[in-house]
Amino acid sequence: MGIEAVGLRVGTLSGALPEALLGAWPIATAGSRLDGARLELEIVQAAIWCPGCVSEQPVDEFYALICPTCGTPSGNLVRGREFQVRWADLATGDEHG
Ligand SMILES: [Zn+2]
Repeated sequence: MGIEAVGLRVGTLSGALPEALLGAWPIATAGSRLDGARLELEIVQAAIWCPGCVSEQPVDEFYALICPTCGTPSGNLVRGREFQVRWADLATGDEHG
């Protein structure tokens, strides 16, 4: 039984580039159980918890975890380093052509 599609959650600070992942996917999976499977990326915008704003704030640079609103530095990254397979669709056995 093959796998039709895989959902991958990728944080913007995970170090993985979505374009590179999509480009490498067919090559990396060739000849494996994932050969021919579709790759669907779920991009997670990285965010810190800002104690100044008492809210989550988006960040784009791993070396500068600073609130873009008030400038408070925060080492409290709440998300953005994800690199997880979230789901996989198994082929039902029906031929889709
Ligand atoms: Zn702030």
